[in-house]
Amino acid sequence: MSHILIIGGGPAGLRAAEVASAGGAKVTLCDQKRSVGRKFLVAGKGGLNLTHSEEIETFLTRFDGPAEIWKEALARFDNKAIRAWAAKLEVGTFVQKSGRVYPKALKAAPLLRRWIERIKKQGAIFKMNHRLTGIESGSAEFETPDGTVTIEADAMILALGGGSWPQTGSDGAWVTTLRNAGIMVSPLRAANCGWEVRWPEELLPFLEGQPLKNVVASVSGTPAPGEIMLTKYGMEGGPLYALGPVLRRMAEPTITLDFKPTFTAEKLVSKMESAKRNFLQESQYRWKLSEPMRAILDHFHGPFESAEGLARHTKACRIPLTGPRPLAEAISTAGGIAWSALNESLMIDELPGVFVAGEMIDWEAPTGGYLLQGCFATGTLAAEAALAFKI
Ligand SMILES: Cc1cc2nc3c(=O)[nH]c(=O)nc-3n(C[C@H](O)[C@H](O)[C@H](O)COP(=O)(O)OP(=O)(O)OC[C@H]3O[C@@H](n4cnc5c(N)ncnc54)[C@H](O)[C@@H]3O)c2cc1C
Repeated sequence: MSHILIIGGGPAGLRAAEVASAGGAKVTLCDQKRSVGRKFLVAGKGGLNLTHSEEIETFLTRFDGPAEIWKEALARFDNKAIRAWAAKLEVGTFVQKSGRVYPKALKAAPLLRRWIERIKKQGAIFKMNHRLTGIESGSAEFETPDGTVTIEADAMILALGGGSWPQTGSDGAWVTTLRNAGIMVSPLRAANCGWEVRWPEELLPFLEGQPLKNVVASVSGTPAPGEIMLTKYGMEGGPLYALGPVLRRMAEPTITLDFKPTFTAEKLVSKMESAKRNFLQESQYRWKLSEPMRAILDHFHGPFESAEGLARHTKACRIPLTGPRPLAEAISTAGGIAWSALNESLMIDELPGVFVAGEMIDWEAPTGGYLLQGCFATGTLAAEAALAFKI
């Protein structure tokens, strides 16, 4: 019986432990925190979006990184498999109108509890308060309350997560450990996160906490429809998360908002009819422009001398962004172990027998259930490869 050591007890590590123990290996799972799945529980707070129900061909396009590896990983555990898996844990799921899939109770806790029970029943041993500090093929070193401990294994799976929400254990400190072992790691950056805008102090009472509903945001011609929430520091919401990868590449990130996507500029002008002045004020009734929309337009592009000028900016209001919110607050992390350091089974070339899974690999995906699905799929692929690994 081979011994597989799994380090990191988030969804990727737990899935790897489940597959490896079901496959007949002796499994030890270590995590630096007192309990596993802390970020999974956080993810469940706003409704655990387990996966998305769209066709697998479209699904595959949501991930960056090598398409062949994603194809392989998702072939082993796709969006249908995750629902069947939850059903076996007696957690029913449903598909929302948007195609997103959630557990019926929305929360993560019941699923996590039953999942851990199943993994333990399959014989896996959990070692908590074990912080990985060093690694080489065949052994890993940990700091524990009882001092330094070395654990040997036939194969290892690292599933140490990204760098957001460090209070859950995903603190990204492993980057130094792996770089010290000679592994290429791209810097960790905030993904699926809010962006900062320098709002003038006097506008904040009109903006903070207000939604911009049914807008289309765009960057360099890429559109992202949805709702944006205005915050003290800037903006949050799906459109910004979706455009994050493009925004991060810009020297001076700027977002363009269409506040009235269902009307052309000409149509807006014609709705002004007899109005000859006070166009911004008139737009409240004639175009149903909300107060925050008017305040933003006035600040960045006002005053408006014509209906045409206001219509043009209403359809394309450019807002300069000063940068992303800090990594600690982000939903997910871009960057991580470089794909070029891995083979097609997610094994680190420089460390034979050491596999990786989950968010610690250099990939990103939008919100919508793709992040968890990516972690489950890579956890499955890494565990199957670790089971097959022979020195
Ligand atoms: C607020 C929020 C909401 C989210 N909602 C969703 C959602 O609805 N749907 C979705 O798909 N995704 C969601 N996500 C993202 C999702 O939770 C993550 O993508 C996922 O948890 C990553 O899984 P992972 O196993 O790779 O890493 P993690 O879950 O981050 O787990 C990593 C584990 O490794 C351990 N670890 C780290 N370093 C060490 C070390 N040196 N030694 C030992 N152990 C270590 C940590 O303690 C942790 O337990 C959300 C994230 C956040 C923050």
